[in-house]
Amino acid sequence: MIEFFVILFGLMIGSFLNVCIYRIPEGLSVVKPRSRCPHCSHQITAFENIPVLSYLFLGGKCSSCKTRISPRYMLVEMITAFIFWVTYTQTGLNMDLYMYAIFISLVIAITFIDFDHQIIPNTLLLIGLIPGLYPFIRDGFSSWSTYIIGGFSLGFSFYAIAWIGYFAFKKEAMGMGDVKYAALIGLIMGWQAGIVAMALAFFSAAVIILILFLIGKANIGQRIPFGPYMSIGAIISLFWSQPIIDWYLSFLVI
Ligand SMILES: [Zn+2]
Repeated sequence: MIEFFVILFGLMIGSFLNVCIYRIPEGLSVVKPRSRCPHCSHQITAFENIPVLSYLFLGGKCSSCKTRISPRYMLVEMITAFIFWVTYTQTGLNMDLYMYAIFISLVIAITFIDFDHQIIPNTLLLIGLIPGLYPFIRDGFSSWSTYIIGGFSLGFSFYAIAWIGYFAFKKEAMGMGDVKYAALIGLIMGWQAGIVAMALAFFSAAVIILILFLIGKANIGQRIPFGPYMSIGAIISLFWSQPIIDWYLSFLVI
């Protein structure tokens, strides 16, 4: 029964994240006015705003002008609900779940905004300081080094990569948004899980860019947002960093 509410909560937050993804880069308020169809300005009614169900009921079209609505709205809602549910199975219903929910929501919003606009809004990074400071409230300062070292080591590493990229390619290969995002992930997850997240980010980026290149969807010198890959790495590492570390160490210890 609690699982049902966690999923429902995830769908509702996912619906709100769609609004954030669309409006934050435009500098618009995320609370008002009500959403409208971008084509005919038809105001979305409460009935048309039910996560997933409205999309299916309307057949993926605006009820007024019949313009196709991107299935991505539904995808964002389902991804959010799914990750919330996985988190709940690991944390149970407590403060950890709420803090992870904030982090996961930010990760999802940042992923799609960076994908669309190649920016990572500072507002979202600043909200990340809430789950970022949470371990200090929960544990006192006993585990502070894990998180502080995580934030600084990932932040400085990416700052160095950004500089090397700048000198190697004579243009911005990695933006300051990426550097701040890496630092935030290190702060929230700690340096161990943070390093796993970044290793997964580079690995998934390499695989996906190679595939895009092979099918002719990417060119050499094209700027590719790195934020979405850091997000993939962070979410996988959030749940499976320890098995991944154990697996990796099994190659070193004979
Ligand atoms: Zn319309």
